[in-house]
Amino acid sequence: MINLILFGKPGAGKGTQAAFLKEKYRLVHISTGDLFRYNIQNGTDLGNLAKSYMDNGDLVPDQVTIDMLEAEVDRNPDAKGFIFDGFPRTESQAETLDRFLATKGMDITATVALEADDDLLISRLLERGKSSGRTDDQDEVKIRNRFEEYNQKTAVLKTFYQAQNKFHSVNGIGTIEEITSRLTQLIDRL
Ligand code: AMP
Repeated sequence: MINLILFGKPGAGKGTQAAFLKEKYRLVHISTGDLFRYNIQNGTDLGNLAKSYMDNGDLVPDQVTIDMLEAEVDRNPDAKGFIFDGFPRTESQAETLDRFLATKGMDITATVALEADDDLLISRLLERGKSSGRTDDQDEVKIRNRFEEYNQKTAVLKTFYQAQNKFHSVNGIGTIEEITSRLTQLIDRL
C-alpha cells in the first residue's frame, strides 16, 4: 500500500499531478477542496458551513474537515492506497490523520511538496480563475490570504514530516509532463 500526501501552496499543481498519479499507481485521490466544492454545489449543510471560509480564503475548521476526510477514506475500504491532496493543512489535521490511519493498520508513505515561487503561483491561480469559476482564484486579496493561511498554519507540516523522515521536495516549475516525471521518479524509489 502506498499513501501519499501532495503538499504545497495553492496553485502548486497538486490537483493536476494527482490526476496523473492516481492512474499510474491506482490510488484513490481525495481532495478536501474538491469535496467541499461538491458539497457547496449540492447545497448540503457541510457545504453551507464551508462556503464562508472558502470564499474568504480561510481554512475550514479542523474538526469539520477531519470528519469529512475520514468518511471519504472509509468509503473506499478496498483502496490500494490514497493520494491526499490539500489535506492535512494544520498540525492538528496531520496528527489526527496519523492516528486515524494507524487504527486501520495504515500509514503515510511519503509527503511530497511541489515547490514554486509566489509570483508564479499567483499568475497560475488568476489564470485558472478565468475558466474554473472559482471565486477564490479570481481575487488577488483572497489568494494572498490563502498564502497567509498556508504560511501560518500549513508550512509547519514540513518539520512534522521531516521528523518522520517522510518529507520530499520536487521542483514544481516546468511543464506538467516534466513535473509528473520528477514525481514518478521519486515515488518509484520510495
Ligand atoms: P483547495 O482546493 O485545496 O485549494 O482548497 C480550497 C479551500 O477549501 C481552501 O482555501 C480552504 O478554505 C478549504 N480547504 C480545503 N482543504 C482544507 C483543509 N485540509 N483544511 C481546511 N480547509 C480546507
